[in-house]
Amino acid sequence: MEFKIAVMPGDGIGQEVIREAVRALEAVGKKYGHTFHCQYADVGGIAIDRHGTPLPEETMALAKGSDAVLFGAVGGPKWDDPKVRVRPEEGLLTLRKGLGLFANLRPIKVYPRLMEVSPIKRQVLQNTDLVVVRELTGGLYFGRPKRRWQTSKGRRGVDTMSYSEAEIERILRVGFELARSRRKRLTSVDKANILETSRLWREVAMEVAKEYPDVALDHLLVDTCAMQLIMNPSRFDVIVAENTFGDILTDEAAVLAGSMGMLPSASLAGIPSGGRALGLYEPVHGTAPDIAGRGIANPLAAILSVALMLRYSLSLAEEAQALEAAVAKAIDLGSKTADLALPGEMALGTKRMTDKVLERLEQQGTSVPT
Ligand code: NAD
Repeated sequence: MEFKIAVMPGDGIGQEVIREAVRALEAVGKKYGHTFHCQYADVGGIAIDRHGTPLPEETMALAKGSDAVLFGAVGGPKWDDPKVRVRPEEGLLTLRKGLGLFANLRPIKVYPRLMEVSPIKRQVLQNTDLVVVRELTGGLYFGRPKRRWQTSKGRRGVDTMSYSEAEIERILRVGFELARSRRKRLTSVDKANILETSRLWREVAMEVAKEYPDVALDHLLVDTCAMQLIMNPSRFDVIVAENTFGDILTDEAAVLAGSMGMLPSASLAGIPSGGRALGLYEPVHGTAPDIAGRGIANPLAAILSVALMLRYSLSLAEEAQALEAAVAKAIDLGSKTADLALPGEMALGTKRMTDKVLERLEQQGTSVPT
C-alpha cells in the first residue's frame, strides 16, 4: 500500500527523534511492502525563522492533504522572549484546531526493565498498561470569556470552562471504542460534586454507556483519580477526561513510565473506524533544549508514535504491533538511552538505540508477534 505522510520535525530534539522515527517507518515499509511518501514541512520556531509564522500555509495544506502527520516538538529559548508576538507553540495549537483533532490519546505502558527508572515502587507499577483520552479542543483552554482586567481593588482574570453535549459525547465515544478494543474498562473523570460542566459530562457518559453494555464504566472525581494513578495505576484501562484534567493527569501518569522519552501520543479527528482517522502523532515530550544537538535523546516516544500512526490512521495493526514488540524486545535486552540508564549502565545514543529496535524488527517474522 502507499501512504502520504506529512513530516514536521519542528525544533530541538524534535529534529533528532523524528529522523529516527522516519527510519523506523521506512523499515516497516520495507518489511511489509508499503511505501510511505514522506513530505517535510516547517513548523514552530524554525518556521518563524524561515517564514515569519509558526504555521505557514503550505504546512497546513500539506497536513490536510496527507494520510497522517508525524510531528516532533516545537519551542526553545531562542523564541521564549515573552514580548515576542508569535510563539512556536501557536503552530501546534493552530494545526490541532485546523485539523479538528479533538481526541488526544496517550498510552502509558510500564516496561519491566524500566521499573527501576520510575520513582514509584515496582510492586505498584506491576501490570500498568493504560491509555488517557484527553479532550483537546474545548473546555477551559478555549472557553470564552477569557481575559484580564483592572478593577478598583486590583487585577482580575477570568477563564471559562464550557462544553456542549456534542463535544462531550464524541470524546466519550472515543473512550468507549478504545476500551472495547482493550480490557473493556472505562473511567470517566470529572469534578461533578462542584462543576456544572462535569455534571453534564457525567450525565452524557451514563447515556452513551447504554450503547456499550460490554464496557464497564466507572466515574472518578479528578482529585481521586490523581491519587489512584500513583497508588494503584494497574486498576486503570482507559481514562477519559476533559482538556485541563487530561493535561494534568497525563503528565502525572508519565512518571509511571520512567521518562518523558517513552511516551507517544496520537491526536485524532474522529473515532478510528476500521483503523482510519486523520491524526497527528507526536512524542509527548518537548524540544529538550538541555540535551538538543548532542545525539543522546531517547527516540522511543517518537518511534512508538509511528506505531500509533500505523494503527489509527493507516489501518496497519499488524505492523504497529510488530514495531511495538521490537521496542519492547530492545528494552528487554537492556538497550537504554541516557534518560533510562541507571548509574554505571551503558547509555546508547539516539541513532544506536534506533538501530537496536530495527534489528529486533528485522529478526521478527511477518506474522503478528506475541
Ligand atoms: P521537555 O519535555 O522538552 O524536557 C523536559 C526534560 O525531559 C528535560 O530534562 C529533557 O532533557 C528531558 N527529555 C525530554 N524528552 C526527552 C527525550 N526524548 N530523551 C531524553 N530526555 C528527554 O520539556 P521542557 O524542558 O519543559 O520544554 C522545553 C521546550 O519544549 C519549551 O520551549 C516548551 O515550550 C517546549 N515543549 C513543546 C512541546 C510540544 O511541541 N508538543 C511539549 C512540551 C514542551
